[in-house]
Amino acid sequence: MNEQYFPQEIEKKWQGIWEQNNTFFTPDESDKPKYYALSMFPYPSGRLHMGHVRNYTITDVIARFKKMQGFNVLHPIGWDSFGLPAENAAMKHGANPATWTDENIAYMTQQLKMLGLSYDWEREVTTCKPDYYKWTQWLFLQLYKKDLAYKKEAAVNWCEKCATVLANEQVIDGKCWRCDEIVTKKFLSQWFLKITDYAEQLLQDLDKLDGWGDNVKTMQSNWIGKSTGAILKFKVAEKDMEIPVYTTRPDTAYGITYLVVAPEYKDIEALTTEENKAAVEAYRKNARKMTEIERLSTERTKTGVPLGTHCINPFTGEKFPLWTADYALAEYGTGAVMAVPAHDERDYDFAKKYELPIKIVIEERGKSKEERELTEAFTDAGIMVNSGEFDRISNEEAKKLITQKAVDGGFGEFKTQYRLRDWLISRQRYWGAPIPIVYCEKCGVQAVKEDSLPVLLPEDVDFSVTGKSPILTSKTFLDTTCPCCGGAAKRETDTMDTFMCSSWYYLRYADAKNSEKCFDKNLVDHWLPVDQYVGGIEHAILHLLYSRFFTKALKDMGLLSFDEPFKNLLTQGMVLKDGSKMSKSKGNTVDPDEIFENYGADTARLFILSDSPPARDFDWSDAGVEGCYKFLNRVWRLVSTNQDKIIFDYKNISASGGEKLSKENDDLVRLVHMAIKGITNDISNEFQLNTVISKYRELTNAIYDWLGGKNEFSEEDKNVFSFAILTLMKLMSPVAVHLSEEVWTSLGQNSGAKTSIHDEKWCEWDESLAKTSSITLIVQINGKVRDKIDVSESLPENEMKEIALQIALNGEKTKEFTQGKEIVKIIVVPKKLVNIVVKQ
Ligand SMILES: [Zn+2]
Ligand SMILES: [Zn+2]
Repeated sequence: MNEQYFPQEIEKKWQGIWEQNNTFFTPDESDKPKYYALSMFPYPSGRLHMGHVRNYTITDVIARFKKMQGFNVLHPIGWDSFGLPAENAAMKHGANPATWTDENIAYMTQQLKMLGLSYDWEREVTTCKPDYYKWTQWLFLQLYKKDLAYKKEAAVNWCEKCATVLANEQVIDGKCWRCDEIVTKKFLSQWFLKITDYAEQLLQDLDKLDGWGDNVKTMQSNWIGKSTGAILKFKVAEKDMEIPVYTTRPDTAYGITYLVVAPEYKDIEALTTEENKAAVEAYRKNARKMTEIERLSTERTKTGVPLGTHCINPFTGEKFPLWTADYALAEYGTGAVMAVPAHDERDYDFAKKYELPIKIVIEERGKSKEERELTEAFTDAGIMVNSGEFDRISNEEAKKLITQKAVDGGFGEFKTQYRLRDWLISRQRYWGAPIPIVYCEKCGVQAVKEDSLPVLLPEDVDFSVTGKSPILTSKTFLDTTCPCCGGAAKRETDTMDTFMCSSWYYLRYADAKNSEKCFDKNLVDHWLPVDQYVGGIEHAILHLLYSRFFTKALKDMGLLSFDEPFKNLLTQGMVLKDGSKMSKSKGNTVDPDEIFENYGADTARLFILSDSPPARDFDWSDAGVEGCYKFLNRVWRLVSTNQDKIIFDYKNISASGGEKLSKENDDLVRLVHMAIKGITNDISNEFQLNTVISKYRELTNAIYDWLGGKNEFSEEDKNVFSFAILTLMKLMSPVAVHLSEEVWTSLGQNSGAKTSIHDEKWCEWDESLAKTSSITLIVQINGKVRDKIDVSESLPENEMKEIALQIALNGEKTKEFTQGKEIVKIIVVPKKLVNIVVKQ
């Protein structure tokens, strides 16, 4: 072992050896229990960023820890490699997206290897390769066969900048999730997946996910957006027509004073009188120009125009006017809203503006008549009034009773509704998996035959075209033959949303090389569900919801036997620098390559785990990196300068059974046991890896303290020292993967042993030794001993001070000396005494 720490040298050496020995290969068959640790796979953008480094290091530590604990660990990696950046780069530089992607994958693979990650590279999957997307297409066909994939004309989200449609989940606050462009609506015929068939199950099963954070579950639950209410039907007074309305507040039905339909409402023209036609048309034209976000904004004053016709309230027989207003949306509910200004804020503002009547039907309990005068909508629970037979009961009870009355009268029904919409998967872009569908004039829409998959992406395309998908420029792709009649047919030119590729990749890892099947059921059932999934919170709805849907749909098809893909989910925080997220546009990024080069990967790994727990944001500091590098140097020197005192096959101290050690040696042995216990618990308990790092430092300091000025080493000293050093190495091996390996094998070689630390078992502790010994703390008042108390030796100074102070103020033996007196000073002699000085 060199006296100096040269990470660049040893890291490169070990990465080569591990690759050569296939150290991290995972057999499918093993007598050990399985454990599946997974990071969300990267998009091959070109280079790793620090967010990647953090995500993959966390999962790597978990995988290595579980392996040492005796599990057969699956820890794979792959590439989410279809998508727009490759296509945009191709358009810009005239290159092929495939070439751009391959180059990026090659570079990032090198980086992942430099980080020392324990991946089984034989299971690597790349979603843009035909051997993978063949099966994405095959899964599409299975969904199509089950009527879970369908094509329909709809007003869809359109991003002008990306020149493609987007799923609802990809519209964040009215903007494109990728480029922040404001999303507009377009009427197009598109492919959808029927995720809504699984809305209830996706919601219910969130309860099963004990290993997921509440934040993600709440986000999914809100997105699915279940509400229970009623459909009420209103007859139009002037025409033989009926308007159904979905409401979650049937209890307010006696308070309706007008009714609103969306400007896009299908029957709006028939509902408008001749006199109102021009005004309504103008209003509708204007609404079309607005985005959904503008329309729903609470800031904007609500606008609308009357249609000239009326509806009849089936409960009261009252007539009220029909309006159109853009705060009603065609896609939500039935596209019509029953307006109850007294009990809905939006309706209240609208009624005030257009001087429409406001009728109170719910009152707050215990309020006087004067107090009931409304100055704003009353939306809380209360007592029913002005509601016929329902007066004086609670409005919660009335919800059910009023709906029941509508059911009995034939003008309503109970209705559960979800906010979740079907998943739009068509994309008008080239770099994605082609949708395996052809159109035949004679036979209509036809699925491509499974045995002719994959439908390959054409290569004869012109990437310089604008305003349309480059795929349309191919001369070979479009024309094909119909799988049904053999006649001429045209291919579907849309490709699939890349989120479809990522909805099943975690299954493919279980059987990555299967060319006959999507995956073998037994293998998938063996490895899945993923035991620990790690990734960013930005996927809380998108990828995590889609994957849950895929798993459930595939289970119903009999392709697998479990219904949730990810048992435990850890969403790691962001990497910040100077208080904001690292990003190219802010110019506050740190290139991982630079850190590897200057300090080595072990420093990068150690640093990225220090300071904050994985779920919290992490603040980058150059001084912190420097500090971690210094620490690893200190650990290295501790071993390299004392090699002659280390016995690789030392006598096992913890099992010595009654052997009496010297006080110093006993103390160090106890500290090592406490470190094993503490670190094991920290990793097991929600992966508190930052405190693991501080425990490495504590133990290292304790070993240095023990060494002190020691000149002579007895056999016992050597045994204890070896136990401490080799245990420290094992404890550090999931994090400082190269350093620990170098130290371990060097020390092993000295004694003729030849083993890898990464094949070692995790350390065990002896509970009786892992306890802190206690000390007697003396409590003095003005220098005189007044009391004594036993406390834990490891008690921090401030807590020691606090305990002593409480005793001085309240203790039977002490309070007479402190009562009514001012405390002027508290002196602490660590681990010995606390002296409280009071004014006499
Ligand atoms: Zn966009
Ligand atoms: Zn045909």
